Order: sequence, then structure tokens, then C-alpha cells
Amino acid sequence: MEKQSFIDAAVQSDTDECILWPWGKTGAGYPSLSNASIHRVVCERAHGPSNGLCAAHSCGTKACINPRHIRWATYRENNVERRDHGRMPFGENHGRAKLTDTQVLAILKDLRPLNTIAGAYGVSKRAVLFIKQGVTWQHLTLSPSASASVQTSPAIPQETKLLCP
Ligand SMILES: [Zn+2]
Repeated sequence: MEKQSFIDAAVQSDTDECILWPWGKTGAGYPSLSNASIHRVVCERAHGPSNGLCAAHSCGTKACINPRHIRWATYRENNVERRDHGRMPFGENHGRAKLTDTQVLAILKDLRPLNTIAGAYGVSKRAVLFIKQGVTWQHLTLSPSASASVQTSPAIPQETKLLCP
């Protein structure tokens, strides 16, 4: 199937499954058609002009071009979404977060039993364990000197530029 007809089929499809682009991808793993982002092409076909917005994925699958999974979003929204897909989102700015960055850093340094820490911060023992294990709140790290370092603005991935030319 030609690329263009594949795009046509994707735009006209009524599936909610991911539609994976079978051809070339950019170095960042995004589908590409000459120099244009497939996501932008599909998004324009399905949702109209971008008006300066980025093509953002709701499914987090880079190779997916299902127009139902792609929408126009602001640059900021797109980055938040990307971060959420990339790893478990438990940053302070995330809606579900119960703890502040400062509290998480305190928990990381807290040597008391998990149950005690959990009780002190009003969160589950499991949540404390995940923080300790680095499963959640990965953007917070303790430096070797045990002094807190907070990375409040994670580096914007290079690939973002490809979606937001
Ligand atoms: Zn998808």
C-alpha cells in the first residue's frame, strides 16, 4: 500500500486501536513522510489546521497515526502528555499527586520504617516504597552528598521539535 493511501485509510478508519505506521521513522522513532510529520498530516486531515499547535498523542505510541489518538494541543500540554507516557507521572504538578516535591525529598531521606513514614505523610506504605525505589518521582534525586536537588524542569526531549516545527 502506498503511504498516501495508508494515511487516507487511517483518516477514514473507525477503529479505536492504534494504527501503526509501517514505514520509515525519524531518529526519535516518529513516523515521517519526507520531511513532514505524519502526525501533523493526519491531524490536519482529521481535525483541521493546526493554528500553531502541536500534534499530541493520547495513546503514547509513537508509531501510531490513528487520528482518534492524535489531537492538536499546546506545546506545554504535549510535553506534559509525553512525560506522562514516558514514565509514571507523580510530579508535583500532576493532578493525582498527593505529595509535594519537598515532602518527597524528605521521604527519600527519612530512615524510619515505611509504615511510620506513610503515616506521617498520610500516604500508603506502597507509595513510600515506590518513592524509595525510584519508581515514582524519578525527577527528584538526592545528590551523593545527601543534600536535596530538585529538577523542577526536566529537559525537553529533542524529539519535541519534530512535532512542533
Ligand atoms: Zn494510538
